[in-house]
Amino acid sequence: MKIAEQEVGRTGCLFIVSGPSGAGKTSICTPALEELEDIHPSVSITTRTARKDEVDGRDYRFVDDAEFDRMLSDGAFAEWAEVHGNRYGTTRETIETALGAGRDLLLDIDVQGAEQVKALYPDAVSVFLLPPSRARLEQRLKGRGTESADALAVRLAAACREIAGFTEYDYLIINEDLSLAVEQFISILRGERQRVSRVGDAARRLILDIFGDPT
Ligand code: 5GP
Repeated sequence: MKIAEQEVGRTGCLFIVSGPSGAGKTSICTPALEELEDIHPSVSITTRTARKDEVDGRDYRFVDDAEFDRMLSDGAFAEWAEVHGNRYGTTRETIETALGAGRDLLLDIDVQGAEQVKALYPDAVSVFLLPPSRARLEQRLKGRGTESADALAVRLAAACREIAGFTEYDYLIINEDLSLAVEQFISILRGERQRVSRVGDAARRLILDIFGDPT
């Protein structure tokens, strides 16, 4: 399967995943990224302070407000948004470099950012993750232990607003059973990769190679 995909070659694909904090985005994206070839997580720019297990340049590029402002006025961002009181953005360079090299890119961004990316890249595929219940959402957020009580309240309120945006997305996954949710996510990525619009040019070259030019 992987060999055939590499041989045929295809156009890079932009995947967006959104959902409220605690919906399980990281738990679903990490195994999907391990399973699939040639898909990379996008590293966003943020003004948020790094959590203790986060590494600058791997999880995010952590910048101060002045640097974020400078990047904004330089037009560096393909999308950006204020989320939970901090600013986050994806640079045009991150997207263009990946797609230009034929690599797929996975953006973990909020609803506001997803809307901007879809406007710029209509071929982008968007997936929304929902927690199975409010109780499970709260439980997951508390269980992470990375947020103060205030930050937790902000994230819960934001979750309610964020969830209302799911109808704008191409796919919806309800994360009740993690292994099923991962399987569904991988199936979406695999299926979308095989669209004629993405593999058509490579298929034409392959057909030419096998059958020659029909003209
Ligand atoms: P966290 O602070 O938990 O890492 O992320 C908070 C929220 O910011 C998540 O919903 C995440 O999807 C969103 N986010 C992370 N990076 C970006 C980005 O580059 N752009 C936008 N619009 N949202 C982002």
